[in-house]
Amino acid sequence: MYDLIVVGGGASGMIAAGRAAELGARVLLLEKNKTLGAKLAISGGGRCNITNAEEDERVLLKAYGKAEPFLYSLFAQFGVKDTFAFFNSQGLPLIIEANKRAFPKTQKATDVVAVLRKYLQAGKVTIKTSSPVTKVITKEGSILAVECGKQTYEAKHFIFATGGVSHPETGSTGDGFAWLKNLGHSVLPPTPTIVPLKVSEPWIKSLKGIALPGVKITFFIDGKKSFSKEGKVLCTHFGVSGPTILNSASAVADLLHNGVVTAAIGLYPKLDQGTLERQILKLFDENKNKTLKNVLKLLVPEGASRGVLMLLPLPLVETKVHSISKEDRKLLARTLKTLPLTIEGLMGFDRAVISDGGVPLAEVDLKTMQSKKVQNLYITGDLLNISRPSGGYSLQLCWSSGYVAGMHAVQAL
Ligand SMILES: Cc1cc2nc3c(=O)[nH]c(=O)nc-3n(C[C@H](O)[C@H](O)[C@H](O)COP(=O)(O)OP(=O)(O)OC[C@H]3O[C@@H](n4cnc5c(N)ncnc54)[C@H](O)[C@@H]3O)c2cc1C
Repeated sequence: MYDLIVVGGGASGMIAAGRAAELGARVLLLEKNKTLGAKLAISGGGRCNITNAEEDERVLLKAYGKAEPFLYSLFAQFGVKDTFAFFNSQGLPLIIEANKRAFPKTQKATDVVAVLRKYLQAGKVTIKTSSPVTKVITKEGSILAVECGKQTYEAKHFIFATGGVSHPETGSTGDGFAWLKNLGHSVLPPTPTIVPLKVSEPWIKSLKGIALPGVKITFFIDGKKSFSKEGKVLCTHFGVSGPTILNSASAVADLLHNGVVTAAIGLYPKLDQGTLERQILKLFDENKNKTLKNVLKLLVPEGASRGVLMLLPLPLVETKVHSISKEDRKLLARTLKTLPLTIEGLMGFDRAVISDGGVPLAEVDLKTMQSKKVQNLYITGDLLNISRPSGGYSLQLCWSSGYVAGMHAVQAL
């Protein structure tokens, strides 16, 4: 009999198991993959955006939207400063980059997995990989044991840390959601939130791999303006991605339920139409004998001209700029300010960074991460219904909820 069984060896499960063991508990960690931390190892493009270094807790927690008021006591026990201190104490100092995104100084997500594995080993956690939990055995509102095929493991307390449903190839296939439902929790259906967008226009697909920095993207529903965001947009073979898009996806998902969603990318968000027309005229004067096709390269981000050319009438493209009319200059300026997109939908869970949905926070004691439905169960990480933007907020939630769950699961023994 173990004191604690943690199911799921991802970010939140590893820190939970390690903390419980550090406090003296006999801990078993069950992971269905051959290795621990598969998702963590690919996070942040392989660099792992481990947390967000926003010092003002109010500002930080606002990023978690509706969950904000629930999170103060959790973060008071293990917040961003504690994350910095924890990884530093494990020999993995962090550095802060643009937008307060914090990464390991080594820039390797696999180093994060490695230090957590060391933390588990230091606490003598029994780690069983290739051990998918297939059944949860309960009696009178408590969990007695879990089964991995023919093996049964008993414990006094359990932590479910099986993650959500994004990137299922990393092991997060929603197993925990099914168990939690059977245990009386109301699991909200998962939808991909931080995810790229699928669009229909060929012009953007022709630019796959090209970045459009410093642009403004405005979303419309049934032709009416909904919201705008400024930043970098990445063109892909299916549509658009990059931080600005990923952080718009949740709102776009809502719009898609209610009508036809279109968008316009403005390459010159700081210039009004008139000023842009005057700049175009000046550029045309300096390049009188060149065709528009050649001059356009000076007006758009590197590599993007071939896509923009697809939006202009063919004869105009081949015209020498000295003979382009005022009307056509206006058309060009308008095009550069409103490159059109039709949003077909969100990409699926396979490309989502996180998914919304999961256990409503009202069903968990956020001071301890204990389930309000099952007395000896604690729930962490992506199993919880908390929407958040990209930028280290997801993993911080894993460190906070995992550490606190591990600690309280032991204190309650
Ligand atoms: C491509 C990508 C990049 C990301 N980059 C960042 C980033 O840079 N910064 C950031 O903050 N967030 C990032 N995220 C989000 C972040 O990685 C997740 O929020 C986080 O990993 C969730 O941790 P978790 O512990 O809840 O679950 P997971 O990390 O999903 O771990 C769950 C574990 O449980 C195991 N499991 C599932 N079912 C069973 C079962 N039946 N039996 C045993 N084990 C089971 C799985 O195999 C898995 O190892 C990224 C996500 C993706 C997909």
